[in-house]
Amino acid sequence: MEPIYLDHAATTPLDPEVFEAMIPYFTDASANANSAHQLGRRAKVAVEDARESIASILGAEPSEIIFTSGGTESDNAAIRGVFETAHRKGRSQIVTSAIEHHAVIHPAECLKLAGAKPVYVEVSPAGSVLPEALANVCGKQTAIVSLMHVNNEVGTVNPIAELADIAHQQGAYFHTDAVQSVGKLPVNVKDLNVDFLSLSAHKLNGPKGIGVLFAKNGSPWIPLIHGGSQEKRRRGGTLNVPAIVGLAAAMTKAEHQREARMAHYQGCRAQLLETLDQHLNGYYAINGDGDSDVSRVPHILNLCFHSPEGQTLDGEMLLLNLDIENVCVSNGSACTSGALEPSHVLLGMGIPTDQAMSSIRISIGHSNTLDEMTHAAKTISNVVKRMLSLST
Ligand SMILES: *Cc1c(COP(=O)(O)O)cnc(C)c1O
Repeated sequence: MEPIYLDHAATTPLDPEVFEAMIPYFTDASANANSAHQLGRRAKVAVEDARESIASILGAEPSEIIFTSGGTESDNAAIRGVFETAHRKGRSQIVTSAIEHHAVIHPAECLKLAGAKPVYVEVSPAGSVLPEALANVCGKQTAIVSLMHVNNEVGTVNPIAELADIAHQQGAYFHTDAVQSVGKLPVNVKDLNVDFLSLSAHKLNGPKGIGVLFAKNGSPWIPLIHGGSQEKRRRGGTLNVPAIVGLAAAMTKAEHQREARMAHYQGCRAQLLETLDQHLNGYYAINGDGDSDVSRVPHILNLCFHSPEGQTLDGEMLLLNLDIENVCVSNGSACTSGALEPSHVLLGMGIPTDQAMSSIRISIGHSNTLDEMTHAAKTISNVVKRMLSLST
């Protein structure tokens, strides 16, 4: 049996149509997009077409789109770049939250060496940041606020436009990591009211190693990577033309099919939970559930397992046991797999360590089927019951 892949928040398979679109730029049209000759110009046209499509999907100007190596680089570039200009004007605070991706938290921490003061805004038990909480910490000392659109471990959606408004009232810049929302929710930089936004192709069935930093025209900011004059001197390095073409193709297709895919995720989620309720009622809880005011995406689901008496299990063992049964899930951020640490996101939401350690993340993709959901839920039920009975 083929493994059932339920780890789409870690990465998604490359769409064959996207791959098709990329191939010519590996072969016939493989010139450097900055070369002045006709072959270079051909590559350049492909890059600028891609930039225009991406800008139009995001409601941005093409000049506001900077190609990077992915979500991690975009997050680093936004935070460091704004901090460096704002710090000179006496603003040294970086406001973020404990449930951000490490691509945001680690640069914020690293910038302490340069005088930054990272501040973590309160996160609600449901896993979102409330505007009141941000208003409590944001002030005239704030350089940048970085809060994610959709959380990659629990799927909660932050009210970005309202949060950005609070940052702007204090004269601070607002960045959002939209890696998990682009292609899933409407992502329009004007509606979201953001100055900087990160996205990554491989989370939406595009190639790995390519992403975008949206930087609103006029935002003071210093590049992270200095080199050639590419990207109007905002990001040095030879452009990855096939990947850029792939990113635009993946985003265009995801946007086109967005509503149908969301409906499919809803159906898959319902099927999974229904089957779990049939076999595992009383043995699990959805992490962060219980606050109907907080919206969440349907394709990311974080579950905590326990016996009806409250006994927890080892989530890492659960993941490995499911893997043996050909069900591929995650115990949170793929970047920390291998290290037996509880998810910083679950801890950041106030979930106790033993419950965080007893949790797994299931993330659904558009090629998953309802049958796979049923099968995965039955397998999870069997493995969880076996593990809990062995441990009593
Ligand atoms: C995957 C992910 C990233 C990192 O993106 P890469 O392109 O893999 O560097 C950043 N933020 C979030 C929320 C992610 O899910």
